[in-house]
Amino acid sequence: MKLSLRDISVDFRGANGGRLAALGPISLDVAEGEFVCIVGPSGCGKSTLIRVVAGLQAPTTGIVEADGESISRPSSATAIMFQDANLMPWRSVQDNIALPLELAGVPKAARYATVAELLPQLHLEDFAGAYPAELSGGMAQRVALGRVIVQHPRLLLLDEPFGALDALTREKLSLELLQVWRGSGQTVVMVTHNINEAVLLADRVIVMSSRPGRTVADISIDLPRPRRVEQLFCEAFLILAREVRSAIEKEAA
Ligand code: ADP
Repeated sequence: MKLSLRDISVDFRGANGGRLAALGPISLDVAEGEFVCIVGPSGCGKSTLIRVVAGLQAPTTGIVEADGESISRPSSATAIMFQDANLMPWRSVQDNIALPLELAGVPKAARYATVAELLPQLHLEDFAGAYPAELSGGMAQRVALGRVIVQHPRLLLLDEPFGALDALTREKLSLELLQVWRGSGQTVVMVTHNINEAVLLADRVIVMSSRPGRTVADISIDLPRPRRVEQLFCEAFLILAREVRSAIEKEAA
């Protein structure tokens, strides 16, 4: 899915009746199949931007289009994932992943067949019948990822999906996400606070200003794919990570 955001801004009603400018104006084009990471100071409007693209929040000004069509409400072609896995504790791993298919009316046998195909990609094949309380944080996020990709969305919106995980699990899951994404043709817009994660995953890193968030840098990440953990220590990677960091620091100064 191709995205086009034109002069998007979002104002909220602030305390004491005033207006709080939360985001923008910001313009952004994302090509079909592109993986874009968004970084920026806390509170600059990143989650608000994700909500606008998801059709969950109407912008105060501007136009957001998916494949040339204006987005005004959530679409089944778009899936969204958050830091919290939000699994249903009474449903097994396979039933949590199958939930969107169930809501879409897919018959039980077809649901289970689709989920069974997905489980090995998510390294969950031995946990199909396990319940959320039995899972580590990393496994719970794999289930959450399974639940968003099971419907083959054309746009994946990820809001700090690995933010609550320890550093090594986070790195592992990021690379697993790339394997799942590779060849899917899906467009990805991901918010992260982690500079290395942004550079390791993205085709482009967008650095946002402090609130109301605007684009202060748009950095192309021309590292070869498939990306590997060893790249974290390559000179080309370090130069890009430094470029992202200095754009963030300039903004925070
Ligand atoms: P980020 O994801 O970059 O941390 P957010 O998009 O969550 O930032 O929030 C941007 C700003 O808008 C913050 O100051 C936040 O407090 C404010 N905000 C977010 N949602 C609402 C809301 N529904 N009502 C009022 N203010 C909000």
